[in-house]
Amino acid sequence: MDTDIAQKYLLRALDAFNKRVIVVSPEFKVLAASGQSIGSRQTEIVGKPCHEVFKDLPAPCENCPMGEVMATGRPSLRGSQGDPEERMACLYCYPIFSGKKVEALVMMDFDLPILEGLEEKLHRSSAFLRSLILSSVDGVIAAEKTGKILIFNDAAVEICGYGVDEALNRLEIRDIYPGDAAREVMRKLRSEEYGGRGKLKGYRVDLLRKDGELIPISLNAAIVYEGDREVATIGFFNDLRETLRMKEALEKTQIQLLQSEKMASLGKLAAGVAHQLNNPLGGITLFAKLVLEEYELEEGVQEDLQRILKDAQRCRDTVKELLEFARQTRQEMRPHDINQAISRTLFLLENQAIFQNIDIEKNLAPDLPLVPADIQQLNHMFMNIILNAVEAMEGKGKLTLKTTLSSNRERLLIEISDTGSGIPEDILPQIFEPFFTTKEDGKGTGLGLSLVYSIVENQGGSVTARSQPGEGTTFLIELPLTREDNGGDEHGK
Ligand code: ADP
Ligand code: MG
Repeated sequence: MDTDIAQKYLLRALDAFNKRVIVVSPEFKVLAASGQSIGSRQTEIVGKPCHEVFKDLPAPCENCPMGEVMATGRPSLRGSQGDPEERMACLYCYPIFSGKKVEALVMMDFDLPILEGLEEKLHRSSAFLRSLILSSVDGVIAAEKTGKILIFNDAAVEICGYGVDEALNRLEIRDIYPGDAAREVMRKLRSEEYGGRGKLKGYRVDLLRKDGELIPISLNAAIVYEGDREVATIGFFNDLRETLRMKEALEKTQIQLLQSEKMASLGKLAAGVAHQLNNPLGGITLFAKLVLEEYELEEGVQEDLQRILKDAQRCRDTVKELLEFARQTRQEMRPHDINQAISRTLFLLENQAIFQNIDIEKNLAPDLPLVPADIQQLNHMFMNIILNAVEAMEGKGKLTLKTTLSSNRERLLIEISDTGSGIPEDILPQIFEPFFTTKEDGKGTGLGLSLVYSIVENQGGSVTARSQPGEGTTFLIELPLTREDNGGDEHGK
């Protein structure tokens, strides 16, 4: 192909390009021009000053780049906001050299309305995305592959305790996780077993707050790829503290519910058995007494019969305790003075032989508010705890009874301590269970503390024991001063 044809094509290509391309002499004279708007005017405009032809101006345009391009020999690109609404005019000006001298200049004049619009849209949508992320209720943290933090939104600030600037400038992603956890997250992100490559869903991990606290979170994370290349990671997470707290409270309530159901059904069972036993026990006692009274018996036989009577009596005591435990009678809730209830129980017990060498210290706060309670149940409760304490001291030691008001004045606290054998740690959780006893056969029924438990429960209070084996035991009872009325509760179990 000869050069003529090549040049022709070049010219046609310039026309097809459909932008103004003007070649101008250093004196601003048009040497050649292409573009649709020029079309047939080509011959008219060649040799005329370009400002006259294209702008209808008497002198070169104000921001004409030609002088600069001639002086520096380097191309120039000027962008100017033409029509303020939507277009950007770009003026490219290139030198055409003859040797080292600029012989002419080629100017290309582009309007860039579409590009400009796109840029603006892009700008707006990335600003929108950014504020979307920043205002997310979930914590959002994004980091470069190197670990440098790129995004740290308000929720992340709140959960992690770092300021945004601090996070962006001084932190790395591994600083917000304890130990090796950040690396573990990355390992899981890359492993197939967690929701697919580069993604992690609902992963339970801890964050390390600025103040050192560990915050349990649920993390959704992803690796950001450009093609096949990992460029960043982004994580969305929420604070699980409240959820976990609620779950724990729920579990505790469930356990309590189970416990009180267990107590209630055991109570019913016990009541049934107790009633069944009462009649034959009455028979055994009655007939043993009759035989003792009406027959001349050998001493050995008499002793055996006495033994039968004694054992029958013990059975009846147990049955009585069982019935008390499973009380079906209506309670009478009235305001009572707890100090007085304690003193009365002590008064009844004090004269028993087993109390002889026991020091009793009463440390009862004066002017305590009255507690709504069933007095019979209160007496039983104190009796059981005090008897256990004295039994644990095996006749010698100190019994301390203390009452106070809780600091918020909503509950009455009763502490009953002894200097007895104490309770080994492994059996401590069992002592409130019905029939749990460590006492030898015939001495303990294992029902005392389960009764205490159900009474306190019924009061809406709580009872706990702490013990130092070998040194003693303290029972702490908390009773609410006002009752949340939950109907049926008032009528025994
Ligand atoms: P019981 O007295 O019939 O054994 P309880 O329910 O009253 O049944 O008590 C259960 C168990 O708790 C006792 O057998 C004992 O091992 C333990 N216990 C209760 N109170 C004390 C105490 N103050 N000191 C040591 N052990 C105690
Ligand atoms: Mg007991």
